[in-house]
Amino acid sequence: MSALAAVPTTIQTGIINNWTRSRPSFTRGLPVSLDFMPYVCFMGILDATIGHNRTWTKLSLSYFQKISNCSRRWCEEAISTLLGENEEDPDTFTLPLIQRRKAATGGYEYRIVARPEGEVSGIAKCRDCGQIGEVDLDPEFIPVPHSYFSLPSACTPTEFLLVTAVMARTQRWGKVSKQIEVTPCQISIEEFQRATGKGRSEIIESLKNIESAGFIGSKPEGRTNWYWARPENFAKRILRAARAVKQPEKRRSKVETDKPPKQIQPVEPKKVICPVEFVTAPCGVCRNCHTYGPMDIVQEAAKKPVEQARAGPTPNGPRKPQFIQDLERRKQAAIADGLRRLG
Ligand SMILES: [Zn+2]
Repeated sequence: MSALAAVPTTIQTGIINNWTRSRPSFTRGLPVSLDFMPYVCFMGILDATIGHNRTWTKLSLSYFQKISNCSRRWCEEAISTLLGENEEDPDTFTLPLIQRRKAATGGYEYRIVARPEGEVSGIAKCRDCGQIGEVDLDPEFIPVPHSYFSLPSACTPTEFLLVTAVMARTQRWGKVSKQIEVTPCQISIEEFQRATGKGRSEIIESLKNIESAGFIGSKPEGRTNWYWARPENFAKRILRAARAVKQPEKRRSKVETDKPPKQIQPVEPKKVICPVEFVTAPCGVCRNCHTYGPMDIVQEAAKKPVEQARAGPTPNGPRKPQFIQDLERRKQAAIADGLRRLG
């Protein structure tokens, strides 16, 4: 990779116009709170629902296999972890982060459910249950190209988490330019360690790999390098060696081929994906049905002060949302319980 003469200032990535609105806590807190496969499957559901402007969507196990390049069994286990079903297994038990229901035509439909953060609220109509009431809205978001969600099929877990860490810190929606903008920032190895839970040498090695794959850019300066995401290259990934016996794919078909047939959800008319709609209609959590999804604002309610959306790390670290705090508490308790039983 050619080293640039200077750290670029904001880079506009105008060519990417199909992306998913991701909550910053999904890209910052979840990678360290969840194991790799549940995280990959969670993000896959986020992309298939929010990224396509709907709250429920039908997904097959082969969809999860395709984005992760992992075996069916791993995907099944990850899904049951996200559903909070593995209570008997203290290592994998979490609070439910997704819900699942039987689809009319067979198979399952999924949606994201997440605890409200309660930072900004408004009166909105939920697109899922239709109720008008107070909802917890996202104060900021990270625009994530659809191609990102298939990166686990090309990366090792550490590499994928590092791309996620760089993306979460440098990628924003340009309100004026109306496109994804990338603003380089300095990230220390220690911060990468906190963001991924991985060791120093593995991080340094993996950073080299994802830079040579073109997923991130970097520029050394003093003791802390500058980094920036290169989302325009996410789609150029090369499938890594499969972990399970799997037919090699000649050409990866788009995620869209997994769309359920049209008759499944007559309530939600198919819409063309329009990123601008995500900007005007923010995502939030319905207090009635707990769906996380785009909300149609009826009226803005009282706002508590919110920190401004900004590129780069927050000096004191962002406050962890309630659902991640709960998740970590349950996990700690489960580990302590497991140790007690062993000892
Ligand atoms: Zn609702």
